[in-house]
Amino acid sequence: MQEDSARDWVVMKFGGTSVSSVECWGTIRAQARKQIDQGRNVLVVVSALSGMTNLLTRLADGVSDPEKDEIRAEIRERHDALFEQLGLEPSDRFRRHRERLEEITSTVDSRLDDLSRAELLAHGELLSSSLGVQALDRQGLKACWHDARQILEALEETEGDPLSVRCDDSPDPAICEKLSGLGTLHITQGFIASDSSGRTCLLGRGGSDTSAAYLAARLSSRALEIWTDVPGMFSADPRVVPEARLLRQLSYLEAQELASMGARVLHPPSIQPARNRGITVYIKDTNRPEEPGTRITKRPGGDDAQVKGVVSRSGITVITMSNPAMWRRAGFLADAFAVFKRHAYSVDLISTSESTVTVSLDPQVPAHYDERRMAAFRADLETLCRVKIIDGCTSISLVGNAIRTILGKLSAALDVFQDQRVHMVTQSANDLNLTLVVDPEHSGRLVRELHRLLIDERAEDRTEFGSSWRALGGVTG
Ligand code: ADP
Ligand code: ASP
Ligand code: MG
Repeated sequence: MQEDSARDWVVMKFGGTSVSSVECWGTIRAQARKQIDQGRNVLVVVSALSGMTNLLTRLADGVSDPEKDEIRAEIRERHDALFEQLGLEPSDRFRRHRERLEEITSTVDSRLDDLSRAELLAHGELLSSSLGVQALDRQGLKACWHDARQILEALEETEGDPLSVRCDDSPDPAICEKLSGLGTLHITQGFIASDSSGRTCLLGRGGSDTSAAYLAARLSSRALEIWTDVPGMFSADPRVVPEARLLRQLSYLEAQELASMGARVLHPPSIQPARNRGITVYIKDTNRPEEPGTRITKRPGGDDAQVKGVVSRSGITVITMSNPAMWRRAGFLADAFAVFKRHAYSVDLISTSESTVTVSLDPQVPAHYDERRMAAFRADLETLCRVKIIDGCTSISLVGNAIRTILGKLSAALDVFQDQRVHMVTQSANDLNLTLVVDPEHSGRLVRELHRLLIDERAEDRTEFGSSWRALGGVTG
């Protein structure tokens, strides 16, 4: 047997639906065992049970007493039911976290500030990981439980937004050695980290993928496995497009682009740490572990120009700034973007013409949608130009290598937008996406139609496309 400290590491992250049933814990056990038998150390990173972070968010927003009682009871019952199905009694560790949660929530009566909100929301993962270590033990696998806040520290420059921090991803041999010395199997929480004063902070909604990526980088892992409820990244959201094709392999850049433009299966910031350290990422299905999933590496081959995905994001705010005097005037953009900076508004897409600049806001940043902040920002911007703001739009992106070289081939497909109000069109500087922002009503139909024209009809003879979601027996919701 290899010395524990010389073993390679594999980090396996399991999302909400992947930790919410007895069967899932059976799969987690089997997959961890497989890696350990192949001579590797394993770190399991878990999300909260599915729906838990939404319930905690409602409590943090401040609800009426009856509603609060109902939510607290639901949180208790969901965990109790899983303990019962597993034939287990909650451990002291689980009880401690539950008592702390009860204590915090008993006094919440209005919207919490960001640091208190972070502490409250962290309990979803603290509870699921405490339950998880017992579930593994019950199945004969001893794991060491770790508080992720002692391993992942927020970068100081991101501490100002404790709900969405970034962390250091440099390899940490001391952590490797410490964990290896304790055993071969470890379990910790996704989503949570600490700031330089030791206070709890979060990595943003969906951030457990990114926690796992940081941990994989810090442990210099050979692989990062993201276990979820679909068998990989698809050429469109399979719940919207039944004909969506499994993408067998992707480059980091393609995966990053698909995730950033709407493929929710991966939290967008999770790719960078893996890419920085050359860690292979796999996306796998907890309910169908035998499926090969998606493999993400530096250069998987097949990087000829083509559309690999049609992805969309909702809740996009479009801001149009017009000023006829802008034409040939130096400095207008600098002045306008200084206003964005002053109000901490992060720009996502941008397109310009002689007298108009249209931008969209990054929909990942919830603070953008605070009405009072928006009014102050708008008033400031209106000192420079006429401002039109449209909320609730949807972006539809065609993602693939060298998209510019195939614009001609796309034009027939773009006819589907003929009767639509298109608020903006952008083509990314990295040549990986072409995006149109439209009203939300027909976005599902548009995505399906574009997918049919650009992918379905060409997928059969392309090896990078695997089976369709429909052929895999998937359910469309
Ligand atoms: P988890 O809780 O495991 O992190 P998520 O709900 O965050 O899971 O992500 C998985 C979901 O992402 C899938 O159920 C699917 O509906 C959605 N999704 C959106 N776009 C895509 C895509 N292009 N490929 C695969 N899944 C996608
Ligand atoms: N539980 C957190 C969320 O629902 C983090 C995650 O699941 O990735 O956003
Ligand atoms: Mg997720």
